[in-house]
Amino acid sequence: MQANANTIRAVVEEVLSELGRKPKPAQGTARPGGIPVISAGSTTTGGASAYSHSGSGNYGVFDNVNDAAAAATDAFKQLQKKSWGDREKIVQIVKTMCEQNADQWGRAEMEETKIGRVDHKIEKLKIIKLVPGTEFIQPDCYSGDNGLTLEEYAPFGVVGAITPVTHSLPTLAGNIVNFIASGNTCVFNPHPSGARIACAGVQAFNKAFADAIGIENLVTIIGKPTIETANEVFAHKAIRLLLVTGGPAVARAAMQSPKKAIVAGPGNPPVVVDATADLDKAAKSIVAGGSYDNNLLCIGEKEVFAEQRIFDSLMDTMSRHGGYRLNAQQVDALTKLAFSPPKEPGGHPVLNRDLIGRDAAVLAQQIGVSVPAGTQLLYGETDTKNPFVPEEQMMPFIPFVRTKDTMHSIELALEFEHGFGHTALIHSRDVQTMNLMGRLMNTTLFIKNGASMAGLGLGGEGYLSFSIATPTGEGVTTPLTFTRKRRNSLIN
Ligand code: NAD
Repeated sequence: MQANANTIRAVVEEVLSELGRKPKPAQGTARPGGIPVISAGSTTTGGASAYSHSGSGNYGVFDNVNDAAAAATDAFKQLQKKSWGDREKIVQIVKTMCEQNADQWGRAEMEETKIGRVDHKIEKLKIIKLVPGTEFIQPDCYSGDNGLTLEEYAPFGVVGAITPVTHSLPTLAGNIVNFIASGNTCVFNPHPSGARIACAGVQAFNKAFADAIGIENLVTIIGKPTIETANEVFAHKAIRLLLVTGGPAVARAAMQSPKKAIVAGPGNPPVVVDATADLDKAAKSIVAGGSYDNNLLCIGEKEVFAEQRIFDSLMDTMSRHGGYRLNAQQVDALTKLAFSPPKEPGGHPVLNRDLIGRDAAVLAQQIGVSVPAGTQLLYGETDTKNPFVPEEQMMPFIPFVRTKDTMHSIELALEFEHGFGHTALIHSRDVQTMNLMGRLMNTTLFIKNGASMAGLGLGGEGYLSFSIATPTGEGVTTPLTFTRKRRNSLIN
């Protein structure tokens, strides 16, 4: 018996040393409680690289999906032979480079996409360090009289990823951390309007990766992406798994793919403010969340339902925290500018894409209003027929709807979240109300008494990803999202 126990211990030690880490203290499914803060290292994008690249790609940038998928497959085969420590090196390189180059890369993304706010573009790169890496993957171990069973989280192979224009490089960088931590390689098809910064990031990362662990093309990307190349990614036989981050059309397309697809789809996050809420905190949070990167975030506050009893006080409080209230005529003028009528009966109003992600002052200027310096967000009273309520506007104007009572607010929140299952928020001191809304909404993120970013670890607890899998249910994506469960049993 003693001999058997020693043999098992030796095997466990060997397996774990291969994995490059120690066993977790207790058996079961415990997950790490916190994410360590990563300090900046010495990796930079500058300087000559000893890396000489080969193949048709240019440090991971390819002009067609076939070549990109072949290079990523080759890189995957090499990564399979590398250590756990090598994966960790790659994760740290991405986090460190994002932190060190945040200013330059954030400005470049702003210049290319022309949407959002440069300070938040920079911040979104600095916080890539909050994305979980290899530490998130812990094997589960079962031991007993019959022997030992180890359940490991294994990679799929090559992941095909589609990224949005709203945060091109941050989404790509966060996805890379998750993919490589879990042992996968990838092919990206970025949004055409954010492709330049995405490709620059891939080239910089690949040079550093090759210098660090000697593998080319751990990350590949299509240099001139189109809907056709996106569809080739969906169909390519070398690509085992999809991660799609974007709006309704691409989410629908991915769900129709015969492959396993993890879909981070659109949202239209409602905010309920009830009569028990701390109105000052609520207003401050709505301004901060609704104006973050000029409301480009899928989790950002998009419409507010506040009950009659506190409606006027809440409206007044908003203006003390960087909000600027538009009157009924001004709301009407902005609505006409932001939306044109649906193209077919029963269709959606058509969003004026030129206004997406523009500053509050620019929106105001378009309707002849001059707002004080420091204005973060425009807001005004509307009814639910105003298209700003049902549509995902992605601009810093928030409609406020006056409701009869809390239950009426929750019912409207449910209706206008449209069943996306994405994000909902409440400001309340009533635990029963918060619980009820949480259960009825059943959204992936439910944020109470804070700004939307708190749901991704910015001002709240937990970890970050810019890809929140909503219709397919994986939630805030992590390295585990991109793994297969593999069981190894050793019998006594
Ligand atoms: P988008 O849908 O216009 O584009 C997203 C990506 O999909 C781009 O790469 C685009 O080229 C591609 N694409 C678009 N239509 C396609 C089709 N029919 N077939 C194949 N590919 C297609 O979205 P966007 O403007 O870049 O980003 C904003 C949208 O993304 C919003 O709806 C937002 O809520 C959503 N989003 C969701 C998350 C999340 O984590 N759930 C994160 C960011 C953005």
